[in-house]
Amino acid sequence: MANPLRILLDAVLPARCPACRVIVDGDDRFCAACWQQLAFITAPLCARCGAPFEHDMGPAAECAECLATPPRYDSARAALAYGGPARDVILGLKHGDRQHLARLMARAMVRAAGPLLDPAARPLLVPVPLHWTRLWRRGANQAALVAAALRRQTGAELALFALARTRATPVSRGLGRAARAKNVRGVFRVTDRERVARRRILLIDDVLTTGATAEACARVLRRAGAAEVHVLTFARVVRQG
Ligand SMILES: [Zn+2]
Ligand SMILES: [Zn+2]
Repeated sequence: MANPLRILLDAVLPARCPACRVIVDGDDRFCAACWQQLAFITAPLCARCGAPFEHDMGPAAECAECLATPPRYDSARAALAYGGPARDVILGLKHGDRQHLARLMARAMVRAAGPLLDPAARPLLVPVPLHWTRLWRRGANQAALVAAALRRQTGAELALFALARTRATPVSRGLGRAARAKNVRGVFRVTDRERVARRRILLIDDVLTTGATAEACARVLRRAGAAEVHVLTFARVVRQG
């Protein structure tokens, strides 16, 4: 929601680095120190989950993990490796009154999505939902804020409530892959099957961690007849080595 006081303050206060909040020359610009720490994810990467590769193995190559256990989604793409300033931006969006960070995140995500957002394919943006109890406490769903910014920047159709969370899940921070998968089992439901059927879905979230949430959402979207499910996040956890 546009707050008139906020707009006024934004106009008169100096621009700040979206990660560390030091004063910078222009809106949505990182300071030099944060910029240097941003780890943009670029090719070569796993064709499926988007994990960066050390060596180029061709555009269709998949990582060992995806070959062993193929994800339910067609692909996952992220703009940045999670950590440092990328984490600060996500935390700022989640906990602060900084909804404009969504605009900056969306811009980076458009680049990471590339042809997935081709208007000819009629991509449908679907944010990962929060349970209403969390939404009420937080005041906003960060995935929905980012999805709305993506719609404004690309004109892609947005289905804010196509997915719902049937119950609040315990905080998954610190849980491993199997525990996270169990945590989200049966949690998501498609509320509008007509809308997702035969469509290319772009599932939007701020960060991809183990992929358990993305998998659970992809499973129900596929069951509802989605033609393709791609996951698009601002950041993703990148395992070292
Ligand atoms: Zn900074
Ligand atoms: Zn992979």
